[in-house]
Amino acid sequence: ESSSAYVGRFAPSPTGPLHLGSLVAAVASYLDARAHGGRWLLRIEDVDQTRNQLGAQNDIVETLARFGFEWDGELLVQSDRHHRYRFILDDLIERGYVYPCSCSRREVAIYGRQGLDGLIYPGICRLGVRKTNVPHSWRLRVDGGLIVFADLIQGVFAQDVQQTVGDYVLLRADGCWAYQLAVVVDDAECGVTHVVRGSDLLDSTARQIGLQRVLNYPTVTYAHLPVLANLQGEKLSKQTKAEPLFAGAESEQLFFALEFLGHEPPAELRGAPLALLWQWALGSWDLTRIPQKRSVSVTFEHKNE
Ligand code: GLU
Repeated sequence: ESSSAYVGRFAPSPTGPLHLGSLVAAVASYLDARAHGGRWLLRIEDVDQTRNQLGAQNDIVETLARFGFEWDGELLVQSDRHHRYRFILDDLIERGYVYPCSCSRREVAIYGRQGLDGLIYPGICRLGVRKTNVPHSWRLRVDGGLIVFADLIQGVFAQDVQQTVGDYVLLRADGCWAYQLAVVVDDAECGVTHVVRGSDLLDSTARQIGLQRVLNYPTVTYAHLPVLANLQGEKLSKQTKAEPLFAGAESEQLFFALEFLGHEPPAELRGAPLALLWQWALGSWDLTRIPQKRSVSVTFEHKNE
């Protein structure tokens, strides 16, 4: 087999244990990488120190190992990458792409109108007339114009980041790196070519492509999966109290994830040894079977029995 240039990854945040929704993203990114003969990387996204939960990183790694996931290379942990992000930011400062912002939440709330992801920053500090010796963030100067990309699952998507998000933060005033910066730098520096992840991040994708352009990185190919929602339509997450993946039911949970992803493992594989199920999944993997939906509601009552 000629080795493919495909590099995929799974990038959980250690804000709690993995749940069925995170398993779906892990399974899809893993199978898509392996089905292409590609590499699959694992990265812990712990830049938001206010959300990290003690022990979650180990728990995530152990859970993935229990399922039989095998990642390539060393585990990458974003909190180890401070100096790298700093180097990138300094370059952006030098090139005039970012500016310091000392606006308070209140100031943004007075002048900012509602955007896709919170308030659109009204550009007050863009003029550069304020003192920066107070705690301040660094914002990217965002250009207008549509960013268009073809998502492998959701189809063509277009967004004007200036109109819908505005100048966004790369380094927060509290010293935490923004997810948008860390994800773009890490994907590029690890040679990631394909990102398969939940559709809750579809709205971040234009921002990430825009930043890839500013940093002269190649554009990543994206595939956004439907996210698992409860019957109220809320995304399964730590905030909605999604249950962790309890041990001992890996085969059933993997079976569920494959079905959720539009695949139909034969009934006799229900509860089969994990290796058999993985083998079937790898041979049957077909991204076009994944429902083209932003979210799918499922009941979980039976999952606990
Ligand atoms: N760390 C993000 C999360 O856990 C995923 C980021 C990504 O896949 O780009 O939701």
